Amino acid sequence: ELLLEIIDLHARVENKPILKGVNLKIHAGEIHAIMGRNGSGKSTLSKVLAGHPAYEITRGSIMYRGQDLMVLSPEDRARIGIFLGFQYPVEIPGVSNIEFLRVATNARRIGKGQDELDTFEFEDLVHERLKIVQMDPTFLERSVNEGFSGGEKKRNEILQMALLEPIISILDETDSGLDIDALRIVARGVNQLSSPDTAILLITHYQRLLEEITPDYVHVMASGRILRTGDNQLALELEKIGYDWVDQELAALE
Ligand code: ADP
Ligand code: MG
Ligand code: MG
Repeated sequence: ELLLEIIDLHARVENKPILKGVNLKIHAGEIHAIMGRNGSGKSTLSKVLAGHPAYEITRGSIMYRGQDLMVLSPEDRARIGIFLGFQYPVEIPGVSNIEFLRVATNARRIGKGQDELDTFEFEDLVHERLKIVQMDPTFLERSVNEGFSGGEKKRNEILQMALLEPIISILDETDSGLDIDALRIVARGVNQLSSPDTAILLITHYQRLLEEITPDYVHVMASGRILRTGDNQLALELEKIGYDWVDQELAALE
């Protein structure tokens, strides 16, 4: 099944064109990685997919299972199965993590046509899913992400993913200075949660991460477009040759 189809996507922020014609198709069962230098537009793509209001689409389309995604609010996108992990997860003082997770999980369950879970049912579910991220249950009672370390926020994000059971997970790992523990948490989460019915879009400049998660496709983004697509071999090659070749190819395009 074709889950996500991005066609000739152009987008700008603060009147500055950033995405300049992104084309990408993601089918069920696939893991895609997007790599590229800093500033190439990777995070912008993930924010546009999330429906971030600061990013204006100026051309092209985004279809999710045959439906126009661009007209949906960020909340509706989450409800129908799109998960956006953020590089810098927000802190929400005064809201307990377990309550936040329960509200998000129930919104998604309604989207899946399932009943909402009461506090007791949710507690069983969340304790089961905690095992995936090996997170201490005391984190459930604390305010959302408040005072969490980078690695703890990352665990919390993957826990959220495990609870929401998204159809497509978009994980932007760039620039966040993930330590090895955090990389492993992401890798475990992705490997345990990927299935023939779901897809993952992993935005990363960590070749390390791709040693633990083998993507079916690796895309190189540069100057707001996907310049090259290959398999995991391409990621290994990039590790060796870097991104200098990108400039020549861009010069030929622009
Ligand atoms: P990447 O994730 O590949 O490092 P980004 O998508 O974060 O790249 O950034 C792409 C370009 O867009 C950069 O030149 C960046 O400065 C610019 N940009 C991103 N967000 C904003 C913003 N909110 N305001 C102005 N420029 C932005
Ligand atoms: Mg960046
Ligand atoms: Mg980025």
